[in-house]
Amino acid sequence: MKTIKVIFAALLTSYGSLAQIAIDTKFAGGNVIVEQILGDTVYFKPDLRDTEGEWFYWYFRAVSNEPKTWFFKAIKPNVLTNMGAVYATDGGLTWQWIPREQHLNDDLFSFTFTEPDQAARFALAPPYIQANFERFIEPYQKDERVEISTLCQSNQGRDVEKLLISDFEREPTSKMVILARAHSCEMMSNYVLEGIMSALLNGSTKMEKLLSQSELMIIPFLDKDGVENGDQGKNRLPRDHNRDYRGESIYATTKTLREIVPDWTEGLPWVGIDLHNPWVKGEGHEWVYIVGNANPKVEKAQKRFAEILVAESRSDIPLRMQDLFLAYGSSWNTGNNYEKGWPFSKWAASFADENMLMSTTLEFPYALVYDEVVTPEKARAFGKDFIYALALFMEEQTP
Ligand SMILES: [Zn+2]
Repeated sequence: MKTIKVIFAALLTSYGSLAQIAIDTKFAGGNVIVEQILGDTVYFKPDLRDTEGEWFYWYFRAVSNEPKTWFFKAIKPNVLTNMGAVYATDGGLTWQWIPREQHLNDDLFSFTFTEPDQAARFALAPPYIQANFERFIEPYQKDERVEISTLCQSNQGRDVEKLLISDFEREPTSKMVILARAHSCEMMSNYVLEGIMSALLNGSTKMEKLLSQSELMIIPFLDKDGVENGDQGKNRLPRDHNRDYRGESIYATTKTLREIVPDWTEGLPWVGIDLHNPWVKGEGHEWVYIVGNANPKVEKAQKRFAEILVAESRSDIPLRMQDLFLAYGSSWNTGNNYEKGWPFSKWAASFADENMLMSTTLEFPYALVYDEVVTPEKARAFGKDFIYALALFMEEQTP
């Protein structure tokens, strides 16, 4: 199980009292390695655990015994987003980006504790764990359009939720699968997913129509263990969840999905959406994009969907067609990327000659979309646009 780290440092303040800071990760999603605390600076890095290569997810709590400004220095590059970090002073319920003046450079931020023994949590971007999902879904527990069950037990024995959403009044004529958190660090996907689900259930004419024709299967946490343990998940050894769709699956969730989705779609036209977040920052990682599929038929459908998404966009998240579609064969999106196994999108595309209309990976950034600052609220608003666009796409494809 997770080791619990509490690291204290003390220094004599100018008033002669002893300032102390304690750092820990004793909560769901927690992740950090504190290398040292020197003077008023905490030197930290992400705990990579079973990750191949570097990655950047971290989330810790700090308690300062007295009001004081502390500095937090990442000892590796590319650990902070271009917005620095998020903080919460209410135990992790609400998050904000640190003020710009406290984002001191690419690897350094500060925070001023204003009360004795104040606790603040800091993270790469606003964390989203099981407890967030439970708070979100509570008002829908008795909604007859939502059927919540268990996809399977995770490899570590946790229940993995499966939601079916439809009006269940007549036989559906299409199906949609939406997945999140194949990579456990990619929390922004769940804010997009909250936007998708609350839009679906908002009672609007368009969504009522969609629910009368389609049935959606939503898996909010594909790597539930990684989410709760605070793992990176990306490039996990011995296998990344999103390379587990060929040969024998080693994860219960991917194995179960591969078994049930072909039966559940029962010959009806369907789409498969896999929600992801890109790299931490920089060119190509600070805009929304769809990963072009190698299958030309699927690629054509993705491009059409991208056009609809741009046209239907109402949220503050800017979309540009030239960036929104990343063609297969360009940037990192090449065959080499799939040598270690198939991702969901490629597996789903293997049904393209049958009834699968479109499978796609969607990449939604952690902190910035061009100059627009990402927040949970804006990610939810994008999610709403996304499902409205998907409804139109489905209407067009299945007249
Ligand atoms: Zn991912």
